[in-house]
Amino acid sequence: MIGNIILLGPPGSGKGTQAKLLAERLKIPHISTGDILRAAKGTELGDRAAEYMNRGELVPDTVLIAMIEDRLSQQDCAAGCILDGYPRTIPQADALSEILTELNREIKTVLDIEVPDDRLITRLSARRVCACGATYQLTFNPPQLEGVCDLCGGALYQRDDDTEESVRNRLLVYKRETQPLIDYYRSQGLLVAIDGSGGITEIADEIYRAVS
Ligand code: ADP
Ligand code: ADP
Ligand code: ZN
Repeated sequence: MIGNIILLGPPGSGKGTQAKLLAERLKIPHISTGDILRAAKGTELGDRAAEYMNRGELVPDTVLIAMIEDRLSQQDCAAGCILDGYPRTIPQADALSEILTELNREIKTVLDIEVPDDRLITRLSARRVCACGATYQLTFNPPQLEGVCDLCGGALYQRDDDTEESVRNRLLVYKRETQPLIDYYRSQGLLVAIDGSGGITEIADEIYRAVS
């Protein structure tokens, strides 16, 4: 039993990048609620969610709680998983602890990845993604061939919500809705702060030590 690990941190702090690396190392699933919502494009749920996402708003709690309950109940999560982008509000965190209690599981560690705001904006404006889930950054983490995914050869594109206006709103929403979770988990003795301003490998090693 490895346990459930939560990655907290503002948009652009590197949650997705680090969650993928850690999931490979620990051999447990990486659950990104943003990826699940984006993959639902074309369905009624996905299209309704995209309206919130493009504005940089949160998708309603009821939608996210049902989604995470369904995902955590699947067999591959039995030994634990890495939660990237959930919970983002106090009601989501309360629902998570009920769901885990019901499943007879618990939260092992909450990692809070800290990065200064100006750096988040630089990172997100040059983020490029692939449909396979890979993420690049034009300056710090570029693909080998411009516009092409190293992993699958797919065409890279910019996310609809990585516009400057949406990014600024996401940072405000993060401070208002998600930042309170830092104290929430600190008071439960689960929080570990990670300096997310260094290089990707260095941060990955610090995170691995924190959960080992
Ligand atoms: P989040 O999931 O928290 O929004 P991502 O993992 O998608 O963050 O990272 C945001 C952007 O910053 C991506 O373009 C990614 O390649 C880049 N990035 C991630 N970690 C670092 C780092 N340590 N230094 C520089 N750029 C990074
Ligand atoms: P980032 O960390 O870069 O903001 P994510 O992929 O985690 O990106 O999230 C993208 C968008 O998906 C969010 O801005 C929000 O609209 C929606 N979303 C993802 N997870 C949640 C959640 N737990 N609660 C509400 N909305 C969510
Ligand atoms: Zn790819």
